[in-house]
Amino acid sequence: MPKQMNFQASAESLREQLVAWRRDFHAHPEIGFQEHRSAGIIAARLRELGYQVQTGVAHTGVVGLLEGKQPGPVIMARFDMDALPIAEENETDYVSQNPGVMHGCGHDAHMAIGLGVATLMAQRRDEITGTLKLVFQPGEEGLNGAEVMVQEGVLKNPRPDVVLITHVWNDNPIGTIDVTPGAVMAAGEKWNCTVRGKGGHGALPHQTVDPIVATALIVTALQTVTSRNVSPLEPAVVAVCAVHGGDTFNVTPPQVEMEGTVRSYSPRVRETVLRRMREVIEDVAAACGATAELEITPLTPALVNDAEVAEVVRAAAEAVVGPENVSSGQRTMGSEDAAFFLREIPGCYFFLGSANAERGLDAPHHNPHFDFDEDALPLGLAVMMNALGHYLF
Ligand SMILES: [Zn+2]
Ligand SMILES: [Zn+2]
Repeated sequence: MPKQMNFQASAESLREQLVAWRRDFHAHPEIGFQEHRSAGIIAARLRELGYQVQTGVAHTGVVGLLEGKQPGPVIMARFDMDALPIAEENETDYVSQNPGVMHGCGHDAHMAIGLGVATLMAQRRDEITGTLKLVFQPGEEGLNGAEVMVQEGVLKNPRPDVVLITHVWNDNPIGTIDVTPGAVMAAGEKWNCTVRGKGGHGALPHQTVDPIVATALIVTALQTVTSRNVSPLEPAVVAVCAVHGGDTFNVTPPQVEMEGTVRSYSPRVRETVLRRMREVIEDVAAACGATAELEITPLTPALVNDAEVAEVVRAAAEAVVGPENVSSGQRTMGSEDAAFFLREIPGCYFFLGSANAERGLDAPHHNPHFDFDEDALPLGLAVMMNALGHYLF
């Protein structure tokens, strides 16, 4: 059991402030790389608290450094800031004031927790052994803001020894925390494919090479990649999410466009899936007399938690919600760009249960009705502080 300081009471004492921050961010959501207002509030607060502040990292990111009195490890915590292009359908007094934009994933909570960490750590600055690096990241939602921050040197000067990240999680009830060692989120790829045949009259199929039939066979054959080429014990997804071809009822089009995504945990499975997709697509097209071109764009690597850091976070969480409310095993085939940090630095990404079904606060993430139980704010802050405190006090 790692040494433990419990910050539950001090986190609880910030509750009103946390809720106020969260509701203000919620009412003023900003799309990725446009988080100017949010970043401005965060940078101003960090400066007031005596942090060294760097702004404009990856366009709108903010980095705050707090050096303790004694030298020691550099511990980073990451909080994402962006909202989604969703029209909010909640009726609360903190509903989005920015039409068509909504904090539908809970990143408003993350910013509030981040400001809470900044506040509590600044109060104990004299006791810190090492350096706290707070990273407020833009553009998490499909924009790979973390990768841009890494390219701009966020993991240097000083280089963190450990990275901690949390996400409110409406799949799990309030008062629970999940800390899972190993891979918890998948590597994600985007793929596009053009199937080319020969267009012609719909009534004269023998004069055409029909790309629609070829595409239908390809979609079906692709199902065998995960079911026949990957071990049933290994997670993988091959999804066809868009098929576009043809304009009218009596013309066979010359080509069809498809796109979709691939998800995997292990690099070996990823390599197998991408290789088999290419073979299936090209060879099935050839069997139809057509040709097909597959283009694969990597999005994020798998997000892998370090076992030792996960153990520290587990103890930090148990001290707040009790061992019976700390689970292990939450995994998703979703992707998260924090993987770019965790690929380089050992760390842990933990799930902060935030749903309250009785109060109707259990809509899924990215849903226009998404909202969560604000008890998650002091709980998340306490766990984050306990885990940071393990390294810094
Ligand atoms: Zn999201
Ligand atoms: Zn999110």
